[in-house]
Amino acid sequence: MSRFPKNLLIIQAHPDDAEAWSSGTLSLLADRGWNITIAAITSGGMGGIGMNESETVAVRLQEATAAAAVIGAEYHCFGRRDGYFFDDEDIRTEVVSLIRQVNAGVIITHAPFDYHQDHRTTCQVVDAAAMVATLPNVPSDKAPLDITPLLYHGMPMSLSDPLGSAVPEPHFFVDISGKPMDKKMEMLSHHKSQQELMRVMHKMDDFFGEMRKFNDKLGAMVGTEDAECYWQHLGGGYQKDPLLQEELKAYIRHR
Ligand SMILES: [Zn+2]
Repeated sequence: MSRFPKNLLIIQAHPDDAEAWSSGTLSLLADRGWNITIAAITSGGMGGIGMNESETVAVRLQEATAAAAVIGAEYHCFGRRDGYFFDDEDIRTEVVSLIRQVNAGVIITHAPFDYHQDHRTTCQVVDAAAMVATLPNVPSDKAPLDITPLLYHGMPMSLSDPLGSAVPEPHFFVDISGKPMDKKMEMLSHHKSQQELMRVMHKMDDFFGEMRKFNDKLGAMVGTEDAECYWQHLGGGYQKDPLLQEELKAYIRHR
């Protein structure tokens, strides 16, 4: 019996990040009876073309809620302004409160070497909040956890850091070929607003198709069709139980 409850909280910067980087893995865990909560720090208001910020926020809330529902997950948005997200005391406390509210056993967030500034700030906030989730003096109205949740980092858009250098070797890949990849595409398909955004922002004509290609590429690195990859936060202050690796043993691949 694990020391950690089977409650997974994924906290990312934008309303489609969990789907883009981790939803194949989330669907495998949902199938295994884990409770999944998907959270976005910002409401994604800059991610709209042909609609203003508040219209975009409303559309993206609907899209993200529908995407989460595909695997029976809850969606929570912290409502920070997209592109103007700064680490501060309030957001750290709010993140601690959500970690406690869902009694998180495992948390996934962005990698510290991610390409996007909002992603890197989210990673910093989540790391800081998870670290103090057991401490009674944190000014949160939720009761402290018994044990610090395990922390994992998902993949950046490519396997390069903001300056284009290769990122550290992923600690493990998760084989999401077949049904999990289909679920991932179904979840992504709810983020219709992002097709046009990606065309304008990244000159990417087919956002969903490009996501599949990226997962194909990761899959090819470990001899399978589609994969996602992760790093476990093994630095000081965190427990090091390889819980996700054991839970998903049949799907874990290495190079
Ligand atoms: Zn993002």
